[in-house]
This record gives sequence, structure tokens and C-alpha cells, in this order.
Amino acid sequence: MASVFCIVDDKHVPLYRILWVSDLPHFCGNEDCACEGRYEIRLEMDESVWANREERDEVLGALEAWAGGPENEDHWP
Ligand SMILES: [Zn+2]
Repeated sequence: MASVFCIVDDKHVPLYRILWVSDLPHFCGNEDCACEGRYEIRLEMDESVWANREERDEVLGALEAWAGGPENEDHWP
């Protein structure tokens, strides 16, 4: 079912606020970094949420479905 929200890191994130999604897991070498190995999902207003791989893939799928991805092409007017 298409929803305008996806769940990332226990947050309901509106798909229309997502600017980009990282293709590679974060690595900065900082020992205190809590985001190591997670995928950055960039939002408007200089915000980011951090997803694991499954969440990242779900977000990409949700964005495609929301934007009318290839599987919805038949229904495009
Ligand atoms: Zn880091």
C-alpha cells in the first residue's frame, strides 16, 4: 500500500521531505560516530536520518512507488 511516510530509525519520515539517499554506508573513522555503517537519508532543512540497509532499501522502494515507479507506468495518464 502506498503511503506518503516511510519509517526510518523509528521515525515516520514524509517521503516528500527526502532530498537524497546515500548509496554507501557512512564511514568517517570517528570513534564516537554513532552513524558508522548506516545509510544517510538527507532531509530538507539540513536534517538527516540514518537508516540500516533494510530501511534504506525500503525507503528507495517507497520513493519509487510514491513517485509512480516503473511498476505503475501502466496507470500513468
Ligand atoms: Zn561519522
